[in-house]
Amino acid sequence: MIVVGGGPAGLTAALYTARSGWKVIVLDPMGGGGQAATTDMIHNYPGFPQGIKGPELMELMTEHARGFGAVIEMDEVKRVTLGDRGVFSVSGQASTYESSAVIYCAGTSPRRLNVPGEDRLVGKGVSFCATCDGPLFSGRRVAVVGGGDSALTEAQFLARLASQVILIHRRNEFRAGLYNQKMVRENGKIVLRMNSVVDEIHGERYVEGITVRNVKTGEVEKEPVSAVFVYAGSSPNSAPVADLVETDDSGYIVTGPDMSTKTPGLYAAGDVRRKSLRQVSTAVGDGATAAFAAETYLMGRTI
Ligand code: NAP
Repeated sequence: MIVVGGGPAGLTAALYTARSGWKVIVLDPMGGGGQAATTDMIHNYPGFPQGIKGPELMELMTEHARGFGAVIEMDEVKRVTLGDRGVFSVSGQASTYESSAVIYCAGTSPRRLNVPGEDRLVGKGVSFCATCDGPLFSGRRVAVVGGGDSALTEAQFLARLASQVILIHRRNEFRAGLYNQKMVRENGKIVLRMNSVVDEIHGERYVEGITVRNVKTGEVEKEPVSAVFVYAGSSPNSAPVADLVETDDSGYIVTGPDMSTKTPGLYAAGDVRRKSLRQVSTAVGDGATAAFAAETYLMGRTI
C-alpha cells in the first residue's frame, strides 16, 4: 500500500492499513506532518480541550503510524501511473515505488498574491508559515493577508510575538469562523484593514513595507512592515494523479463516499479532495474511510 502525503489523512490511512497487517509506505516531501504541523495551536481537534500545538499533534500521529509498522520516506511524488497488470507506479524525486493500491493525500499548497516583490522576497520577510518564521520578527510590525481561518489563527499567534499585526482582507466580512473573528477583534495588537489589498511588497534585501489599497475608496497607503504572512487560500496538489481522477473546476479530486476515485485502487483523502470542510478532524475521518476501502479492494471484495 502506498500512501502519498503524511498529513492527518495520510497518517491515519497508514495507521489503519499498517495495523491491519499491510506493508505500508508513506511518501512525503517533509517526512510527514503536513500543513497541520505548521499551525501553532489547534483548538478544535477533539480530545484536547486546552488545544494542542500542531507540530506536537502531528508528531504523535507520525509515532502512532510508525508504531504499527508504517514506513515513512522523505520523497516528493511527481507522477502516479497505472500499468497493464493493475499495478500503480508512483514516481518520486528520489525513487519509483509500486503497489496495488494508492491512497492519495497530498493536500494543498499555499496560493500566492502574485504582486510585485512577493516572489523576490520569499524567505526574506514574505512567508506562508507563521509558526516557522514568526519568531524571526519578535517585537516588529508585520502584516497578515487573508480573511480565512488560517489568516485569523496565525494573526493571533503573531500578535504574541510582534509589536503589531496588520490584518489585511479584501472584503468587509471575514470568511473565517465566528470564534476566530471574535478572538481577532478582541486582540488589541491586531489592526484590521478590511476592503483592502496588497498591491506591492517593498524592500531591497528584506521586506521593508507594503502598499495597501482600499478597494472601496481607492485610497493607497504605504505601511512599514518587516514581514508579510500570506494566507490567501490554497490550491490542491492533484497534478500527479490528474490522468487518473476526475477533478472539479478548482482541481480538487472528486471521490465517492468511500474516498474512491474513478480509477479502481486509487483513493483520495483529506484536503486534496472535493469536500465542504477542511479540518484535521475531517482529514482523519477521510483517511480511515480510504484505508478501509483500499483494504477491501486489495482483498478482492466490495464494500
Ligand atoms: P480559505 O478559507 O480559502 O481563505 C482564504 C482567504 O484568502 C479568503 O478570505 C480569501 O478572500 C482570501 N484570498 C484569496 N485570494 C486572495 C488574494 N489574491 N488576495 C487577497 N486575499 C485573497 O483558506 P484558509 O484560511 O487557508 O483555510 C483553508 C481551510 O482550512 C478552510 O476550510 C478553513 O476553515 C480551514 N482551517 C481551519 C482552521 C480552524 O478551524 N482553526 C484553521 C486553519 C484553516 P475571500 O474571503 O474574499 O474569498
